Amino acid sequence: MMPSRPRLAGCLTLLAFLAPAAHADWIRRVTDGIMGTRITVELWADDKDKGERAIDAVLDSMRFVDETMSTYKPTSEVSRVNAGAADGPMPITKELFDLLTAAHEYSVITDGAFDITYASVGYLYDFRHHVRPSEGQIEKALPAVDYRHVVLDPARQTVQFTQKGVRIDLGGIAKGYSVDRGINVLKSLGITRAYVSAGGDSRIIGDRFGKPWMVGIRDPTKGEGSVITRIPLVDAAISTSGDYERYFEEGGVRYHHIIDPHTGHSASKVRSATVIGPTATRTDGLSKTAFVLGPEKAMEIYNRIEDIDAIIVKLDGTVIHSKGLEPGH
Ligand code: ADP
Ligand code: MG
Repeated sequence: MMPSRPRLAGCLTLLAFLAPAAHADWIRRVTDGIMGTRITVELWADDKDKGERAIDAVLDSMRFVDETMSTYKPTSEVSRVNAGAADGPMPITKELFDLLTAAHEYSVITDGAFDITYASVGYLYDFRHHVRPSEGQIEKALPAVDYRHVVLDPARQTVQFTQKGVRIDLGGIAKGYSVDRGINVLKSLGITRAYVSAGGDSRIIGDRFGKPWMVGIRDPTKGEGSVITRIPLVDAAISTSGDYERYFEEGGVRYHHIIDPHTGHSASKVRSATVIGPTATRTDGLSKTAFVLGPEKAMEIYNRIEDIDAIIVKLDGTVIHSKGLEPGH
């Protein structure tokens, strides 16, 4: 009997080698609705079923982020923090603690332009229903906007707000974070070439067999589908924030969903900002800066940060980019 075993094993090895090759292919799925945005997952799978299951796992992971971090859901961990953190230190999960720590870092490096406590005023806006606060309401709520009001204690893994009225909202990094989480799920399942995006936040692992992935940057002055440029990317993340995403117009003024933490008003100093970097949490967190600080000040900051590059479309439609994107760099 013994001699037949190696022969059989050899036969199976050959089959194992041939079978996946026959089914290997790119798989792409577009899903609407999670986190109120469009999710796209594209990957190379050596087996179609395995690939589809990997995409299911990414979407499950994104639903989890939505459940725990959305302020629209009263039972989410973030909603519970908003309800209780002004009363004293609140223990939170490591995952939320780490994300709040990252948010704090982005506030520091953007001179406070990125600030999750924007929500202390931001909750008074409803862009879908064209609702905005009065000057009086803004003035009253504004003192609660300051990332320094969020006190994190790494030893106890707690969060505390220093005063009443402080609210946080992770809408400025949650999509990027969910993309990173999705990419980690794919990596753990052995996927080595993939593209995951949630709204304006995308991340890529691997290449397209010797070719980079091409990611288009939308032209904010034109309709959906028109791009100002396409960026070749391998193992990178890219986020674009635009004033066309969620807005309404009143009396010739465009009110849109990025809020200047210093004024409580819509921050409208650029048309769009794109940041390229190692993770989508980071690129998402940094892409709002230009709206608040304006193109020049923001580009100064972007040029200072080692691991990122940026492309800004100014109000007059002209495009500027960071030093790292200059030809020959
Ligand atoms: P999207 O939500 O389509 O990913 P952005 O990445 O541009 O768009 O993020 C905009 C979101 O960021 C807003 O809807 C809001 O939740 C949040 N936000 C608004 N202003 C700020 C701010 N100054 N700092 C941090 N987050 C902000
Ligand atoms: Mg985003």
